[in-house]
Amino acid sequence: MDFNLKNKNAVITGGSRGVGRAIALELAKEGVNVAVNYNKSADAAQQLVKEIEARGCKAYAIQADLANSEDSVSLVEEAYSKLGTLDILVNNAGIWPSNWIQDIPLTEWNKTLEVNLTSVFLTSQTFIKKLMAAKKGGKILNVTSQAAFHGSTTGHAHYAASKAGVVSLTVSMAREVAKLGINVNAIALGIVETDMTKQALHDKQEYYMNRIPLGRVAKPEDIAKISTFLVSEPASYITGATIDATGGMLMR
Ligand code: NDP
Repeated sequence: MDFNLKNKNAVITGGSRGVGRAIALELAKEGVNVAVNYNKSADAAQQLVKEIEARGCKAYAIQADLANSEDSVSLVEEAYSKLGTLDILVNNAGIWPSNWIQDIPLTEWNKTLEVNLTSVFLTSQTFIKKLMAAKKGGKILNVTSQAAFHGSTTGHAHYAASKAGVVSLTVSMAREVAKLGINVNAIALGIVETDMTKQALHDKQEYYMNRIPLGRVAKPEDIAKISTFLVSEPASYITGATIDATGGMLMR
C-alpha cells in the first residue's frame, strides 16, 4: 500500500525515546521530514536526527517541556517554521507516575494532567490554527492508553484520568475540524517495551502478560507501523476514532 507520505512534515512530541522515537523512524522510512521534540534526552534526540537524515529526510530536534504551556505552543510554531509547513502532529509525550489515590500529591496530579492532556490541547490548537491560516488539511494522532477505558489497576489514577481526557478531546476536536480536512484520531496502547514500563514489567511480568491475549508485550515498532497508517492518506476516512493497539488487553 502506498501511504502517500513522501515529503510530508511531522512534529512528534516525546520523540527522543520509546514509542515516539519508533514513530519518527517509521515515518522517515516513508519519506516524512520530522521535528523531534524532547525534554531531557538531548543526546538521544540528536542521535535520532542523524538516523532520520540518513534516511534522506530533514530532521530537527526541538527542546520543549510540555508541562509548560508556553513550550507546548512554541514547539509547534518552531517545528512549523523549521520545516516550512506541517502536515502531521503526533501527541505522544507522556508520564506515568505511580501513587495510590490517597497519596497522590496535587503537584503530581497537576503535572500529569499538564504533560498528558493540557499539552495535547495546546499543541493541537496551535497546529490547527497554523493549518487554518495556510488553508490546508492535516492529521493529528494522540497516544492514549487502555487505562483510559479500564481505569488504573496499579496506582495510576491521575494517568488514567489524563488518558481518558485525551480520548474525549480527540472526539471533540475531530468533529470540529473535520470540515477543514483535518483528521484527529487516537491510538490506545496496552503494554509496550520502553523505559516507561521497564520496572513494572520486571516486577510484575506475569500480571501483565496474563492480561494480554496475544501473549506478548508490544515493541515500539509494532505501534509505529499502526501509527504511520493512521496519519497516512489511506486512513483519511477515519476520524474521531481511538484504535486499540493492545494485543487484546483492551477489547470493547
Ligand atoms: P517513555 O517513558 O519511554 O518516553 C517518554 C517520552 O516522553 C520521552 O521522549 C520523553 O522525553 C517525553 N517526555 C516526558 N515528559 C516530557 C515533558 N514534560 N516534555 C516533553 N517531553 C516529555 O514512554 P513511552 O514511549 O512508553 O510512552 C509514549 C506514550 O505512550 C506516552 O503517552 C504513554 O503514556 C503512552 N503509553 C505507553 C505505554 C507503554 O506500555 N509504554 C502504555 C500505554 C500508553 P525526554 O526523555 O527527552 O525527557
